[in-house]
Amino acid sequence: MNVAELLNETHKFNVPTICVTGGKGGTGKSTIAVNLAIFFTLLGKKVLLADCDVDAPNIAILLNVNLGSREEVHQFVPQFNLDKCIKCGRCAEVCRSHAILHVKNSFPIFFKSLCTGCEACKLVCKSQAIEEGYKVIGWTSIGSAYNIDIVSGELKLKEAESAAVVIAVKERIQKMLNTNKYDLVIIDTAPGAHCDVARSMIGSDIALAVTEPTPFGAHDLDLILKLAERINVKMKVVLNRSNLLENHDVIEEICKKHSTDIIAKIPLDDHILRSYVKGKPVLLDNLDSPGAKALIELGGKVKGVLEI
Ligand code: SF4
Ligand code: SF4
Repeated sequence: MNVAELLNETHKFNVPTICVTGGKGGTGKSTIAVNLAIFFTLLGKKVLLADCDVDAPNIAILLNVNLGSREEVHQFVPQFNLDKCIKCGRCAEVCRSHAILHVKNSFPIFFKSLCTGCEACKLVCKSQAIEEGYKVIGWTSIGSAYNIDIVSGELKLKEAESAAVVIAVKERIQKMLNTNKYDLVIIDTAPGAHCDVARSMIGSDIALAVTEPTPFGAHDLDLILKLAERINVKMKVVLNRSNLLENHDVIEEICKKHSTDIIAKIPLDDHILRSYVKGKPVLLDNLDSPGAKALIELGGKVKGVLEI
C-alpha cells in the first residue's frame, strides 16, 4: 500500500488525538503514553487509551489490568470447492505467498498459515471453485484502569497481517467514541517507521516521537520524522533518558532538519522503573520523583499544543 492509499483510509476521530510513537523499540513510549493518560485523567479529562502495538501490546501490563470483551479479527482465506475445480493451477500461479501448491492434474494444496488474504486466487479462478472463508488472525479487547478506558489489539502468534488488527483497533476506538463521551484519545504505536505505524498515526492532532540520546535512537528518529512529514502529522520529540549525556547535538540536528523540536526531556529515573514493575504509573506512585515531574511538564506542554 502506498502513502496516498494510506491517507485515504478514514482514521480521523472527532476528539483530540495524541499518538505516541518512536522509531526505535524500547525507548519508553508505552510508559509515556500511559503516564500522559494519567496526567489528563488527573485533570478531569476522560481518556481512551489505545494499544496499536499489536505484535507486543503492553499497555494492559503497564496498568496491571485484565482485558475482556475480546473480538476476533478475521482475514479472508480461500475455501476450495473441489466439485468445481478443474485443476488448472491458476490460483497457485498468482499466489505470491506460496500458500497454494499445485501439481499437474491434481487439486491445489492449501497452506492456511502462509495465506495473507490478498484474494488474488479467488479473482483468477474462472470456475468459481474458490469461495470465501476466513481465519482468525488476532483480537481486540477492552478494559479500564484508573478511570482510563483501554482498547488493545493483539496479533495471533505466527500470523503476519498486523495491518488488519491495527485497523480493527481503530474501528473499535470509533465504536467506543460513538457510545461514550471522551475528551481525548491517546494511541501507542508499534516501534519502527512502517505501514502499521503510519496507519496508527494518521489523523492524530499531534504525534510524539519518543527517542533516546544514542546513535540508534538518532537514526530511527530521522526515519519516523520523515514518515510523519509524508503523512502530514505534526510531530514533536520527547527525549527519554535525557541524562545520558552523549548524542544530544545529533538529536537536535535531526529535529532542526525536520523543523521540529524537543518538547520535553525525561531523565533516567529509578522511580519510573520501580513503578513499571509494580504495574502502577509513576504519576500515581511518586509524584515528587524527577521522572514524574518531567512527565507532568510534558503533559502540560501537550495540553498547550492541543489547546484542551
Ligand atoms: S484456479 Fe480454481 S479451478 Fe484452477 S486449480 Fe485453482 S481452484 Fe481449481
Ligand atoms: S488469498 Fe492470496 S495469499 Fe491467500 S491463498 Fe489466495 S492468493 Fe494466496
